[in-house]
Amino acid sequence: MGFFSRLLVPRSVRRAMHPGRAVKRAVTPKAVKKARRALHPVDNAKYSVQRSVATTIRSGRKRKARAWHHGSCPISHRSPEAAARCRNR
Ligand SMILES: [Zn+2]
Repeated sequence: MGFFSRLLVPRSVRRAMHPGRAVKRAVTPKAVKKARRALHPVDNAKYSVQRSVATTIRSGRKRKARAWHHGSCPISHRSPEAAARCRNR
């Protein structure tokens, strides 16, 4: 089927041919749709600010939880074992 023949087929017929898409659309929750809309260029500025804030909070928590230090070693070790094995010791 070529490009033009696809254009000539009514939308309802096309949907009937590919029920998967229609089902997916019906199943998709509104929250997901809203989240997808946030990716639209119009909302980009607002969204990017929210995302950077969320990333900062998340990464800050992660770093706090997963770094082991010892003595004057500048390396943030990923585990207490790695800190014990460190050659800067
Ligand atoms: Zn070390």
